[in-house]
Amino acid sequence: MTDRLLIAPPEAADLVRARTGLGSFELTICTDGTYRLDGGAMFGVVPKTLWQKRAPADEQNRILLGLNTVVVRTGRHVVVIETGIGNKQNEKMREVHQNQELLPQSLAAAGVRPEEVDVVINTHLHFDHCGWNTTLHSDGSVTPTFPNARYFAHRGEVEHGHMQYERDRVSYLSPNYDPLIENGQMTLLTTEGIAQNPEIVPGISVELFPGHTRQLIGVHIEARSHGGAAEHACYISDLIPTTAHLDPPWVMGYDLDPLESIAQRKRFYQRAIPERWLVLFTHDHQTPMARIELNDKGKPVATRV
Ligand SMILES: [Zn+2]
Repeated sequence: MTDRLLIAPPEAADLVRARTGLGSFELTICTDGTYRLDGGAMFGVVPKTLWQKRAPADEQNRILLGLNTVVVRTGRHVVVIETGIGNKQNEKMREVHQNQELLPQSLAAAGVRPEEVDVVINTHLHFDHCGWNTTLHSDGSVTPTFPNARYFAHRGEVEHGHMQYERDRVSYLSPNYDPLIENGQMTLLTTEGIAQNPEIVPGISVELFPGHTRQLIGVHIEARSHGGAAEHACYISDLIPTTAHLDPPWVMGYDLDPLESIAQRKRFYQRAIPERWLVLFTHDHQTPMARIELNDKGKPVATRV
């Protein structure tokens, strides 16, 4: 047996990372658990002497990250944004990443039934964002985790994944999306199509923030309570993976185009800060959501909500 048995079972409170109202919508942050990635890769050219103050490294130089899935109940739709690492990794990769495959338990703890989810959005198709799109069974078969959902991803992500470039082929696992394309459940978005109609369902729309990948999608959630003002949340995905990455130049070594990521962060802040958006972080286990302000030095900082 593996040492996974030694990992204590998660507390129910750990399985649901946050819950909040947004106008008439309800947002729940579920989790696929935590995983570990090399701290240097997560902070690009930033020296370790600086980043380790924000994200302490273990003896293998890895830092702890979360895998946040957002469930939005709009009243008419149940929308899932991102699906974690999933259960298709081999034993070696599980050992490298130390991940726990918790999303099904997390959804159950939050009272979300996979059958009631009718929309799944993937911001991009890296292994740690779309893993539970499908479930691997003991007989080797792979089936959709959300049998009644329409899935959405950018066509360019699928094409990039299929090219299997040396730089990032380990991040693209086709069983996470090919079965859904083949059975017709996945709609492939295009840049032109998003420009014409960014709305997925009423109140939920997508926008491109390229840099980490060429077609990285941010997901806007906008809702109004009865007679109240509109409220805005944004799942900004790997443009800003954690609250330790808020400084515009603190971009990841993984980014395909770091200069573009910096420019896109600045563009994001131009709206997110003055309009007081609720920002949802894909890989921040401790602070999955925050508002962003500028401190007295003019640097963006998170204020926990
Ligand atoms: Zn990621």
